[in-house]
Amino acid sequence: ARAEGGGQCLFFSAEMNQRTLERIGMEAALRLAVAGDELQLLYQPLADLQTGDLCSLEALVRWQHPQQGLLAADRFIPVAEAAGLTEAIGQWVLRRACRDLRAWRDAGQRAIPVAINISPRQFHDRGLVDAVAAALAGHGLGAGALTLEITEAALLRDAAAGSACLERLRALGVGLTLDDFGTGSSSLSNLKRFPFDALKIDRSFIRDVATDAGDAALSKTIISMAHNLGIKVVAEGVETEAQCDFLRRNMCDQIQGYLFAAPLPREQLDALLAEPRRL
Ligand code: C2E
Ligand code: CA
Ligand code: CA
Ligand code: CA
Repeated sequence: ARAEGGGQCLFFSAEMNQRTLERIGMEAALRLAVAGDELQLLYQPLADLQTGDLCSLEALVRWQHPQQGLLAADRFIPVAEAAGLTEAIGQWVLRRACRDLRAWRDAGQRAIPVAINISPRQFHDRGLVDAVAAALAGHGLGAGALTLEITEAALLRDAAAGSACLERLRALGVGLTLDDFGTGSSSLSNLKRFPFDALKIDRSFIRDVATDAGDAALSKTIISMAHNLGIKVVAEGVETEAQCDFLRRNMCDQIQGYLFAAPLPREQLDALLAEPRRL
């Protein structure tokens, strides 16, 4: 063992330099990825628990990294957010989702709404409402085609500004979903302050919902409170029949998760939309 910390310090700082370099490398690569053609959108189907039908799609971004392969959003969205790149990614996602919606409409597919994730910085960007309106109009889509998913953390960063933005989006007519409910400094009172159509119970509460009394009670409470306020409830990360049965019994409205479908590339969705899948 080393008697003094000098060597260790050196070791740590070398490791930190390595990480800093990786991060800077990733930032630079991500800038190029956004400008180039390396981003992709996958769509994950949501099912209505009463009918069992596909009722909505969530757009999830992926990065086809030249060396590292297909990266999931949580591998690069945090880097993007810190580097101020999420507005650019968000713009790309918004336009691509509208373009795909247009193509589905033109192909005569039934009109399934698409939800896109709005990052905290994007949400507090003053241009958001106009960008959404322009993307819809540019593709000849009604506002009902699109839902925006906003996290509670984004909202509470500046509740007054957030509330004003939500009201403008509401007036535009897009759907509004409160994402990752239960993870932030959540409180049910936020629900009635803001004009959401739906909330998503975070996957971390759904995982043990069929076996853990605490998670079961929490989910039931969220569902009944939301319903009392006229808000629909979506459960994220539903992987098992047991979770699904619990949620159906307790009047959850929609589920999303591998049990029904994984996030899929557009081509696979075309087939699924033509021959609707049932739960
Ligand atoms: P999220 O909004 O909570 O999205 C759901 C995540 O759960 C997705 O991960 C999805 O692939 C994953 N998932 C779906 N079903 C299951 C399941 O049954 N089990 C498990 N274990 N996971 C499931 P993904 O695509 O890696 O996205 C991670 C997060 O990155 C998202 O969490 C969202 O916050 C963010 N994100 C994704 N796409 C975008 C985007 O276009 N813009 C922004 N700003 N954020 C995005
Ligand atoms: Ca989401
Ligand atoms: Ca979510
Ligand atoms: Ca989540």
